[in-house]
This record gives sequence, C-alpha cells and structure tokens, in this order.
Amino acid sequence: MAQAKPAALDPVALTSELIRCPSVTPADAGAIPLLQRALEGIGFKCEAVAFQEPGTEKVLNLYARLGSAGRNLCFAGHTDVVPPGARESWSVDPFGASVKDGVLTGRGAADMKSAIAAWACAAASFVASRGRDFGGSISLLITGDEEAVAVNGTRKVLEWLAQRGEKLDACIVGEPTSAKTLGDSIKVGRRGSLNGTLTVTGVQGHTAYPQLADNAAHRLIAMLQALTSTPIDTGSERFEPSNLQVSSIDIGNPTANLISGKARAAFNVRFNDRWTARSLETWLRRLLDGVGGKYELAIQVSGESFLTPPGPVTDHLAAAIRRVTGRAPELSTTGGTSDARFIQAYCPVAEFGLVGASAHKANEHVNVNDILELMRIYLNFLELYFPGR
Ligand SMILES: [Zn+2]
Repeated sequence: MAQAKPAALDPVALTSELIRCPSVTPADAGAIPLLQRALEGIGFKCEAVAFQEPGTEKVLNLYARLGSAGRNLCFAGHTDVVPPGARESWSVDPFGASVKDGVLTGRGAADMKSAIAAWACAAASFVASRGRDFGGSISLLITGDEEAVAVNGTRKVLEWLAQRGEKLDACIVGEPTSAKTLGDSIKVGRRGSLNGTLTVTGVQGHTAYPQLADNAAHRLIAMLQALTSTPIDTGSERFEPSNLQVSSIDIGNPTANLISGKARAAFNVRFNDRWTARSLETWLRRLLDGVGGKYELAIQVSGESFLTPPGPVTDHLAAAIRRVTGRAPELSTTGGTSDARFIQAYCPVAEFGLVGASAHKANEHVNVNDILELMRIYLNFLELYFPGR
C-alpha cells in the first residue's frame, strides 16, 4: 500500500475526490474505500462494515481508529448525499467538484464531505506533530446511510462498537452547523421529532340526514383545532418552544351528499427537552380525549430531544473556533435531527461544520478557504482535547 505523507494531505483535494464519487444513498460509489485508503495512509486502523435491515438496501459504513490508549475522541459523519435533482438547475456537473474563484461546487460540498476531509487532514497534521503515541485515540465513524432512512448507519455501527467493548469518550459531528459565516454556530442539542397519524371514525350517512350520521370530518377538525390552538410549552433555557404542524388532512370523499365516516390527518411535532416522546404522547391523547369520539393515534418517533451540558467538548470547540476565526459561536439547538440523536446515548456530542445554507440545493457549494479554516479549527480542537504530557 502506498504510504501517503500524512502532513501532505490536502483537504480540498480529498473533498473533491469524495465529491467525484456519486454516493447518493444507499450507493457508496467508492467513497468509503477512498476515505479508508486516505486514513490508512495516516495510520488509522480501518474497518468497513455493511448492514442491511430486511426490506432495505445494504449500506457500507466505516470505523477508523488511530491509537489504542487514553480517551477516544470520535468524529462522526456521512459520505452519502441527497440526489442532485434536475441537471439543468446546476451550473456545473454536480459530481465534478468544480473549483472556481475560491468556491468549490458539488453535491456533498457543504453536507458534508468537506468536513470529513477537514477532520482527516487535521488528524494527519496532529499526528505529524505529536506522533502516534500522543496518549489518546482519534476515531472516525462514517456512514453511508444518513440522508435516507438511517437504519443501516450510525445507530447500527454504535451497537456493533458497543458489543465489541469499543468506547467513545466524546464525539464531534461534522454536519454543516454554521449559519451565515464559518464558526457562528455550534449545535449542542437537537429537538426531538414525533410523527402522529390520527384516524377519526364516525358514522357515514346522508348530508340531508345528519342526525343519522356522525361526521368524522367535523370531529377531525375539532381535534386538530385542539392540537394546534394549545401551546405545547413556552420553550426552555436552551430550546425554543415545541411546535406541532399538521402536514396532511385526508378524507378522500368526492361525493357531495355523503357524510364521511372516516377522516385522517398527519402531523409532526418538534419538541424540546421538557418532553420525552412518551410524555408528549400522553399530552396529545389528553387533548384528543377532551374533544371526544372514537379515534386512533399512531405515533412514530424519529428521535428524542437531547442537550449536551457545557463541558470539555463544547468548551474546547468554542475555544478552537475563537482562536481560528475570532468568533464566539452561538450554542444552538435549532434545526432538524441528525445522527447526533443516536450518539448522545453513548457520549457527549457536539456538532460543528461548514456553512450549510446551500445544503441539499442545486449548486451546493462552500468556500475553499472555509475548508482550510475548518481543518485548522478541528486541529486546534484536537490540541485542546489532548493537551499533551
Ligand atoms: Zn448531513
């Protein structure tokens, strides 16, 4: 195997190579093996592991570790990307990794191939100056299943690691958390997400004889009114108020003189750390029971809310960002869910990466200079986390 000189690894070149692998979930398209070769060149011990839940497609994941002693600091990320969408909405090849005027454009540039490359290069630089026996361990948990169902990815790798007694002491997720400028925001928690499907059953009948029917549509309206007019909470110290949004109302009755006996609605709740999915379900059922009538409520939980309390991970990360950019990052809990929802059950986790404004859009892009700065921030973070002997 060719031994790449660790310090010579170039994060922009590595990002570009990763972007040229069209790894739209669940396809790997060579992304994980490419990363594995780069990490092995630095001295990481790599294990690629595939998982396949029944009814899903097989997904490749990677766990890489350098060092066997001390605290294990893990970087988590994903090589998979969302589809590019219509080719004509892009001004360049979405998988061409074009660099022009200091801007790198391509699917996965922001979310989040650049961050993976930046971490790998920061690790290479750290090991080049401190040697491989620096008294700790650096690892990477990279999945190819984050953007879609996320059942064959991070959650499975974490279980697999735990079974083997592999412990993570802290984790940085490289999602693009910066809002407008690199370093303006770190995620220190995430809201939970719960999907509800509400089915109301009444009695079908003739619109001219409502006394012989029980209009399911009317009941559904009353129930949705109860759910949307009652504030769930007023927020908490680190979180904005929880929020319920109705995403679909479905009666499917094309007949003008028919009272529908069944009506359905779907909603999504983004909830803060004042709730668990279970306590929220109890709250929802109490409101629905208050309206009365026969209903079924099916609940699907995408993730519980969590908050990483202030500690070494968030402190060192904020300090590293300040050193490199001069900015004091906001400690945020907004936005959607990420794989941090799985990791938080194992160790303290914070998320920090590039500006995410163009993620999932046509002409997804990042500033080349931001990739270099992100690498320096990660390097500073490693130096703060492993202060040396
Ligand atoms: Zn992402």
